[in-house]
Amino acid sequence: MRVSLLEDVCQGHTLCAIAAPAIFGLREEDGHAVLKVADVPPEHEAGAERAALGCPEGAIVIE
Ligand code: SF4
Repeated sequence: MRVSLLEDVCQGHTLCAIAAPAIFGLREEDGHAVLKVADVPPEHEAGAERAALGCPEGAIVIE
């Protein structure tokens, strides 16, 4: 699974980093998400899917 983050859409709700901390981090300066891992290993796919479904802005795209 590959995941991408639409940085200009992200509003910094932090939910993704809670749902999948191995995949998403947060920038210290504004709390917006950063993608730690674009190629999601199988053990983190469920978390990445939860993060995508839970993002209020639709900023997480799973390919
Ligand atoms: S949940 Fe969505 S809007 Fe919130 S920080 Fe993560 S990517 Fe950004």
